[in-house]
Amino acid sequence: MIYLDNSATTQIYPEVKDAMLPYLMEEFGNPSSKYYSKAENAKRAVEEARASLASLLGCNSSEIVFTSGSTESNNMIIKGVADYYQNQGNHIITTKVEHPSVLETCRYLEEKGFSITYLDVDQYGRIDLEDFQNSIKDTTILVSIIWGNNELGSLNDMESISNVCLDKNIFLHTDATQVVGKIEFDMSAFPGITFLSCSAHKFHGPKGIGATFIREDKYGILTKFTPLLHGGGQEHGVRSGTLAVHNIVGMGKAADIVTLNLGKNIVKLKELELYLCTILNDKFGNQIKFNNDKENKIPGILSVLFKGVNNELLLKTLAPMVAASTGSACSSTKPSHVLEGIGLTLDEIRSTVRFSISALNGKEDLDIFRDL
Ligand code: PMP
Repeated sequence: MIYLDNSATTQIYPEVKDAMLPYLMEEFGNPSSKYYSKAENAKRAVEEARASLASLLGCNSSEIVFTSGSTESNNMIIKGVADYYQNQGNHIITTKVEHPSVLETCRYLEEKGFSITYLDVDQYGRIDLEDFQNSIKDTTILVSIIWGNNELGSLNDMESISNVCLDKNIFLHTDATQVVGKIEFDMSAFPGITFLSCSAHKFHGPKGIGATFIREDKYGILTKFTPLLHGGGQEHGVRSGTLAVHNIVGMGKAADIVTLNLGKNIVKLKELELYLCTILNDKFGNQIKFNNDKENKIPGILSVLFKGVNNELLLKTLAPMVAASTGSACSSTKPSHVLEGIGLTLDEIRSTVRFSISALNGKEDLDIFRDL
């Protein structure tokens, strides 16, 4: 079976598993404990992993807070900023094509009296910069815009969005779950990004672990917000709870591997994507249409409309040979709001399949489509 659902989750690298195992067994200490070696070893391992992730993102280690994943990071920042700064305004800007962990959090806040602008997107799922600028009000306290879309792969112009937010002095959060480990960037080039969410299982790390980048000022003070989890004060008091050392170590190892191979992986993924497009075009001709843009996207994500074919039936038929999905695994029971957002009809949405390739795939995997 060929696995082409890497935007849903990825297989962990064997080296990641090997790095994690000691922290599940003999090195089981609590990094918040002191003096004895099991505690000190756990603490050291956590700080090494933090440095690895910081190096992948191009930020300071002190700007990384570990969470259980992007769902938590997105909730933590959006609810936390809304609560902390509610006296300064009640307006939040986001987009119609965010992940549910952003959209549902915004809907929750709307019920609590916040005013939310859900920006429209173009045919590939990107926001319009002018639209965005026009939506900013005196009461805007937060902007939350997805960097790379999980169903279409399209990248927003984060540099311009970051510059607008910097200029207007508004906090910017970006859900970077699909871009971390897939595109090259350095946080120092995006001074307007205040917060960023990411998740290890999207780049061959373990599930249940992620991080939030929280920008610190020139004095090393992290941007303030109300914590989601109150308790023992771990992670600068921002995210309480005993650290999941084995998972953090796994995320750090995955970050190391990805940092080392990113350039090479991007070249390979672009090649594999083109290869799959060519096979599908040869095989299906005008019976298919690509919903995604060809450029300015996360390499390896394809959204393919099989005209007149029910996507669930197609996926079921393919399942013994190919693992793919209709779109986001997190909202698979409802028609995709992302595809609705780019203007597809319900019929078109129900005929769309997402293939998401990993650099662990090879051309020989994709050849399976020639024989279908
Ligand atoms: N945001 C995006 C864009 C995602 O693709 C996902 C995972 N599907 C999430 C957030 C949630 O991540 P996690 O499952 O790690 O909480």
